[in-house]
Amino acid sequence: MNPLPAIDLDTLVDRLVQLLRTPSPTGDTEAALTTVAGWLREMPQVTPAFTRKGALIVTLPGRAASAPRAVTAHVDTLGAIVKEIKPSGRLVFDRIGGYPFFAVNGEYCTIATADGRRYTGTALLVKSSVHVHREPVKEKEWKIEEMEIRLDAAVNNAAETRSLGIEVGDPIAWDPRTVVTDTGYVKSRHLDDKAGVAVLLAALKALADTGATPTQRTTFHFSNFEEVGHGAAAGIPADVTELIAVDMGALGEGQQGDEHAVSICAKDSGGPYDLGLRRRLVALAKAHGIRYKLDLYPFYGSDAEAAVRAGGDYRIGLFGPGVDASHSFERTHRDALLASTQLLLAYLLDD
Ligand SMILES: [Zn+2]
Repeated sequence: MNPLPAIDLDTLVDRLVQLLRTPSPTGDTEAALTTVAGWLREMPQVTPAFTRKGALIVTLPGRAASAPRAVTAHVDTLGAIVKEIKPSGRLVFDRIGGYPFFAVNGEYCTIATADGRRYTGTALLVKSSVHVHREPVKEKEWKIEEMEIRLDAAVNNAAETRSLGIEVGDPIAWDPRTVVTDTGYVKSRHLDDKAGVAVLLAALKALADTGATPTQRTTFHFSNFEEVGHGAAAGIPADVTELIAVDMGALGEGQQGDEHAVSICAKDSGGPYDLGLRRRLVALAKAHGIRYKLDLYPFYGSDAEAAVRAGGDYRIGLFGPGVDASHSFERTHRDALLASTQLLLAYLLDD
């Protein structure tokens, strides 16, 4: 067995940070995908192309094309959208993707208008001030009407807010709060799944830097609608025999995974992943000394499942860096990013 190509982990983390700081709520992902396309164009013999739905794909020739493969990671993230402009001039927002309102209470955000302007604001409970409202804090799921976005603009009514160019349907991006600690942690919203995108990019760079060729022709698919369930439903070549989603490992009570390993998923809400493929991934991790953990994810769906539900006739697998507090204040570690990239390279170069 050949050793894996060297991985440029510092570049991986730098690109991850840049991606995390480029807003890309589902439905407004063009800037982030343009950034990814720019990095892909730096690699020789790589020609990125956009699908009609806006996903980005590149295909690497393999040493064979008898059983082509594909890997996918998604650049779209949780976000929100302007639902109403209130008589006060503040905004009612609807959520994009699955998360409880308490996960964004107090979060800063940016609203993107149709004419390209950007406004900042804060998501708050309507009754936030303790000097005015003395309702006991209840442990419950807040309703949409209990929250609003306070704009950082001197507006007091809906007409003034509209005069800023803000309208129903404008995308809202949550501040990622990205911090890289000197202990190797990456703290940020949206590590799901920009960490996976950074892993794909790092594997591509390792192949380009060393001139290594994948075993099979392999398509890299950068998805833009995963958080709403149909990202990879299109864009995977029909002759692919295996599709791997590189997406976050879910951590918490009852889970084996951690922020220092790649999580390999055996089953999630959509059912079991392909048994043979999953066991091959485990064997590759063992053979290369890659830190891995096996897990089931109780409430989780992946783009690999979206693709087979859309009719894809291939075996599917799922692995990715362990991410703590997913869809909330997420965190992972360089160790997990490295282990995930190693496993991806091991898979790409495995016979
Ligand atoms: Zn994800």
